Amino acid sequence: TPADFGRLSANRVHQLLQKGDIDREELLRQVGRLLGRPPMPAAVAVPGPTAPPTRARPAVGTRPVILAIEDNADNMTLLRAILAERCVLREAGDGEAGLRAARTQRPDLILLDLSLPGLDGLSVVRALRAAPATREIPVIALTARAMPGDRERALDAGCDDYLPKPIEVQRLLEAIDRWIGCEKQSGK
Ligand code: MN
Repeated sequence: TPADFGRLSANRVHQLLQKGDIDREELLRQVGRLLGRPPMPAAVAVPGPTAPPTRARPAVGTRPVILAIEDNADNMTLLRAILAERCVLREAGDGEAGLRAARTQRPDLILLDLSLPGLDGLSVVRALRAAPATREIPVIALTARAMPGDRERALDAGCDDYLPKPIEVQRLLEAIDRWIGCEKQSGK
């Protein structure tokens, strides 16, 4: 059942992440197995600025574009495993690259690690909100620090939602679904 799936996934993924030295292939296999799917395809590279211009909300039957801005390779691997078949996943490893990708790709939703090298997540979301082209894109903040006040700071800076790390599969999917209905549109 979906409830079992969520609990199993969250627990297993927690275990894997808490072990620290995750073997990436093993993580992919485990997540893929939990999701009842074959191994995930490789990441979709972010194309250059020749990509198509602004897209509206995803039409029914098309996969929404999600931009993940995350510098931690294991977390990115996990996001890829969870989202690869549900959405078109774009990836950026730091804040500057994330801003560029947001401006050129106009994703339907952004998953934003708040702790990034260089331009940090709060600065990224402020820049997104300051620009008309990216102002309306829903942003879900992700942070491992889970310090008191993190959530408020994220929302004050312009994030729409907030998820603490380690990432829980079911909570992530629910949060995405709240903003763009990713799961429903992919028919999963
Ligand atoms: Mn980080």
